[in-house]
Amino acid sequence: MVESLKSHWSPADLARMTTYAATAEPRPRHRRGFRLTSRVFWDMAIYMVGLGLAVGVIFPPFAILLGVPETIAQRPIFRSACLLAGFLVGAMNYALCRGVVGGRMEVLGGHLRAATSSITSATRTGDWSEAVFERIHVDSNDQIGEAGRAFNSLLGAVEGRKDLEERLRFQAFHDMLTGLPNRAFFIEKLAEADVLHQESGTPSAVLFLDVDNLKAVNDNLGHEGGDTLIKLLSERMVTSVRDTDTVARLSGDEFAILLMGPGSEHQAERVAHRIIESLRTPTRIGEHLVRTGFSIGLATSGTCSASGIGMLRAADMAMYAAKSGGKGRLEVFQPSHHTAHLQRDAVRAELSGALDAEQLELHYQPIVDVSSQQIVGFEALLRWRHPERGLISPLEFIPLAEETGLIVPIGRWVLQEATRQAAAWQNRSPLGRLRMSVNVSVRQFQHPDLVGDVADALRESGLDPSLLTVEITESLFAQDTEATLHKINLLKNMGIRLALDDFGTGYSSLSYLRRFPIDILKIDKSFIDGVTTSPEGHAVVAAITQLGQTLRLEVVAEGLETGEQVEAMRTLNCPFGQGYHFSRPLAAGDAVKLLLTGQKPDSSMLVPA
Ligand code: C2E
Ligand code: MG
Ligand code: MG
Repeated sequence: MVESLKSHWSPADLARMTTYAATAEPRPRHRRGFRLTSRVFWDMAIYMVGLGLAVGVIFPPFAILLGVPETIAQRPIFRSACLLAGFLVGAMNYALCRGVVGGRMEVLGGHLRAATSSITSATRTGDWSEAVFERIHVDSNDQIGEAGRAFNSLLGAVEGRKDLEERLRFQAFHDMLTGLPNRAFFIEKLAEADVLHQESGTPSAVLFLDVDNLKAVNDNLGHEGGDTLIKLLSERMVTSVRDTDTVARLSGDEFAILLMGPGSEHQAERVAHRIIESLRTPTRIGEHLVRTGFSIGLATSGTCSASGIGMLRAADMAMYAAKSGGKGRLEVFQPSHHTAHLQRDAVRAELSGALDAEQLELHYQPIVDVSSQQIVGFEALLRWRHPERGLISPLEFIPLAEETGLIVPIGRWVLQEATRQAAAWQNRSPLGRLRMSVNVSVRQFQHPDLVGDVADALRESGLDPSLLTVEITESLFAQDTEATLHKINLLKNMGIRLALDDFGTGYSSLSYLRRFPIDILKIDKSFIDGVTTSPEGHAVVAAITQLGQTLRLEVVAEGLETGEQVEAMRTLNCPFGQGYHFSRPLAAGDAVKLLLTGQKPDSSMLVPA
């Protein structure tokens, strides 16, 4: 029987069959056994009776023809012997057929059961990666061979499905650009790390990394350049951690790294610094060398389980703190980050009602001619008069308004209110043509309504457009430059002026100064702070002032706090200044008083009209 099996099924098939039989789902033995037994009995009975009768009844008459003496052939014993021989041949025939055909059918059945079990469990778990389908080696052309071939081609179809499932599964859990695990995968890994921490105390840590200047890279080198940078950075992250750690790309410019087993926060910090060091090396993209900054948050399982916060959330909060603390830094999670986060959530929720509840107000800070000390205009600065918290700084809520998109209606209101106020002062001020500066943030600038909002504000207030200055920041130039240029030109065509606020703190290329029709350069306070403290600081401010003059831009020094700073700027021929030395931002009433009398609320004097 084994011989005959071997002629149709290879030894490997037999071995596989054994394995499959072991992995196949257990069969209900008794029931199947009974059914098989009764089947075997009836099958065999048919064979035996059929062949027995054929041999026992039909053979004796032939025996005479074949030369057996009639006396012997007619004897009942001869007939009984023929009948018995018929039964025996029938039984042997049955056993032989069953052994050969049944053995081959058994192999086929084993493969079928194994494949069915694989498909069932893969469908149930959704994980096809473990499903194993091996084809039957078929070298016979009988019906069983046909069945084997049909089974093999069915497996072909299932394998196609398996490949597709695996591809889909990979896509569902990986980032397509870098091939790194994605957020869903990372969250699964975090859950595993959490279980490990609870069960065996194995510590882990999460680093949340945010690329600071990806937008600028996309803008300068195109999206392919940005993609190349992301791929190279992700490779560096992977090579700077161990195999047991997980590097994931959470979104466009956000990555997370799960470090398994750092013994302490200090050790996790050391690993973080090693990663930062590897990322700091400039990356070559074509002929460009790109330096990338990261804001990084670190959270460890110890601190997180103590404060009841998920590690990823905690690391995200720490990253937010790193970013708002000046970017390019590593911040380790502290409970105060969580408090700040909750506060931000509360502010975000309340901010949407602030405009309707008329809790927003504008304060006005004079912009002064440095030589004559006369006020030439004001910058409108937004404040939120919160019913419980009092006056809230724009530094706290403008970023949230940007995040939520509320900056658009809020900015529209600022434009209306500032132009209305400027037009009202225009009619009363003895100082003549006073200017009004309004800050416009990136998201507000990019909104399709901006040009219409500015036009509406000018029309409704009746303010001369040349007296309105829109202050934008360098970060705007890191965006889609063509669209930005088009919008700037539309604004310029209305006759308004454009100021570049916080100059020197943002985008690192100066080419935009030639490209965009800017009228005013506002030197950031961080540079002004150094103008009297060091020769280098002085040289930098002198260079910026000179740059503005060369490009025929009006220069305004921001954040002038002392007479020495004012004097230094006057010596550098900087025409305009703004800062606490002249006046803090004032409520509208105080600003009018200052305009009319030259008297500041703290009773010091500016040059009156
Ligand atoms: P900014 O446009 O650069 O405004 C100047 C900021 O510097 C103001 O802060 C002002 O109070 C402060 N400042 C002026 N002189 C001095 C000084 O001598 N010393 C110091 N330490 N600070 C001085 P503020 O009012 O808190 O505004 C902060 C920022 O918030 C503004 O910076 C601007 O970027 C943004 N912002 C204010 N109002 C609006 C608004 O209506 N819309 C938008 N989009 N942003 C606004
Ligand atoms: Mg400003
Ligand atoms: Mg500024």
